[in-house]
Amino acid sequence: MRILLVEDDSMLGKALQSALKLEGFTIDWVRDSEEAELALATGGYSMLLLDLGLPGRGGLEFLAEMRDNSNPVPVIILTARDAVSDRIRGLDTGADDYLVKPFDPDELAARIRALQRRQAGRTAPLIEYGPLLLNPATREIFCNDERVYLSAKEYVILAALMDRPGALLSRTSLEEKLYGWGEEVESNAVEVHIHNLRKKIGSEHIRTVRGVGYMLTDAP
Ligand code: CA
Repeated sequence: MRILLVEDDSMLGKALQSALKLEGFTIDWVRDSEEAELALATGGYSMLLLDLGLPGRGGLEFLAEMRDNSNPVPVIILTARDAVSDRIRGLDTGADDYLVKPFDPDELAARIRALQRRQAGRTAPLIEYGPLLLNPATREIFCNDERVYLSAKEYVILAALMDRPGALLSRTSLEEKLYGWGEEVESNAVEVHIHNLRKKIGSEHIRTVRGVGYMLTDAP
């Protein structure tokens, strides 16, 4: 899952980026609304973490413009302001959730997972598909009740496929989830990870649609 973080505080931005990376999220970090606008225009983000007190155009104004432009990307507000009115305004402007600073990165990660769940229309914290079971909180995968050990990138791919079972995901959209800015995209990386995933969970669960992408299937 690829997330855009908008935060002008260098220390906090850096800390959040590395903490969330450890949780298996791909994080791109920008420091103001102008950069955030450019980044969002490229698409590919599943969520936005938005600081309200930004230099120049503030977070609330930015959020209002996003929603005016019908940008549906889910937003979690990160705010140092403890005024209730700011939080209410944030939610009423179109934010989906908020956290008041200082907060524990683990709580942010849990809120991201909860919001992701709501976005996907799921209520259960575990994702099940056929013989596959994924626990987003612990990043454990089971296949036919047996624990499967995946690399970080294999996990990202399987989690993306399980998030939308039966949906066709293009190679490009999987690459977007795998790599943040500044990370070199290895050619054929997606194919290689899919190949290794099939070896671990059984080749029948991931279907290749030639020239288009991949989908999860529970058909034998
Ligand atoms: Ca700030």
